[in-house]
Amino acid sequence: MAIETVRVHGPLSRADLARITGLSVQTISNIAEELIAASLLLETPVSTGMRGKPPKLLTINPDGAYSIGLQLDHNWLIGVLLDITGVRRGEIVVQVDSPAPQAGLVALEKAARNLAVGANIQLEQICGVSVVMPGPFEVDPIANNGPTVLPGWADVAVADRLAERLNLPVSLENDATAAAMGEHYFGVARQHRNIVVIFVGTGLGGGVLVNGQPYRGAFGNAGEIGHMSVYPEGRRCYCGNQGCAETYLSVHAAYEHLGYARTPPAYDELVDRFRTGERQFDTWMNKAAIVLRLLVVNLENLFDPEAVIVNGFMPHPILAELQRRALPLPSSVASRRRREVPRLILGAAGQKVAALGAAVLPLFYSFGHLTHVSAAIPVKR
Ligand SMILES: [Zn+2]
Repeated sequence: MAIETVRVHGPLSRADLARITGLSVQTISNIAEELIAASLLLETPVSTGMRGKPPKLLTINPDGAYSIGLQLDHNWLIGVLLDITGVRRGEIVVQVDSPAPQAGLVALEKAARNLAVGANIQLEQICGVSVVMPGPFEVDPIANNGPTVLPGWADVAVADRLAERLNLPVSLENDATAAAMGEHYFGVARQHRNIVVIFVGTGLGGGVLVNGQPYRGAFGNAGEIGHMSVYPEGRRCYCGNQGCAETYLSVHAAYEHLGYARTPPAYDELVDRFRTGERQFDTWMNKAAIVLRLLVVNLENLFDPEAVIVNGFMPHPILAELQRRALPLPSSVASRRRREVPRLILGAAGQKVAALGAAVLPLFYSFGHLTHVSAAIPVKR
């Protein structure tokens, strides 16, 4: 709380900090001493132009801690290095081709090391690494096969194996949950604490924030909306069910509809086919938009969020058109007369959204709300 108050209110004296937090000056002084000793806060004299001893003010030490987010997907490994104030200190993008575990772990380790070297910091200064991959994890048969999960990774203890290689704390999250954090800290949801993100990647995922906290579920798989059935007798899905949402709304679904044999990194081609108004593509868009609409309404009724956000690897112009075609939305608990924001918003944190959100997670789990990079400033309603 002390760090967060300094972050929101800017440089503060110990007395100001005590006043704002409602704690005693003695308590604040003890906390400040500890945080200064841990290099998380700095206390420096500030000249006031007045005579006498200049007052000392507390600020967050941007070099107090760092974190790394790594997103591994079929075509890309994206890495982001953040400092404790949420400033990006490094980014890395490596093209991959659905890497098997051994090669993938080597690539993840290399990316983390390169980020540290690039920012001129030691690996020990990193408080944690968060790896995000397409979920779900440890669920048969979905996690073991299928075109939208990474093949061969189902039984790999990714976090443990990478932690051994880097000698750092490593956690594994699903990409959509990280994407929700990404929008909350860097995108359109800075002022929203209850959101659902529909992440249109190779597959389809959902990320849920409840009171600003990622909702993980009992086993880290909450929000696996890709396998929510939207048509009881619809398309067959590799999970064994029929009519799963991601068989209609995902990059893979688009490729399949257009007749690609496998999943190449063909984002530009998708945009070209969209822009030329090709009929086949248009048919896919209409169907995908209907599924988006159904999902929005169901997720609203389930979570009553401030807004639903759509983002992901799917190229932005296509996401924008899907959002447009999903309107008007049928009624749900979100059809309130007085709304401050639209029900369905297009994400704004870009294609790196999940890697960015992943990089926030170690800071979030280590320092709590300290990392409310730009989201924390209270909104007056
Ligand atoms: Zn399915």
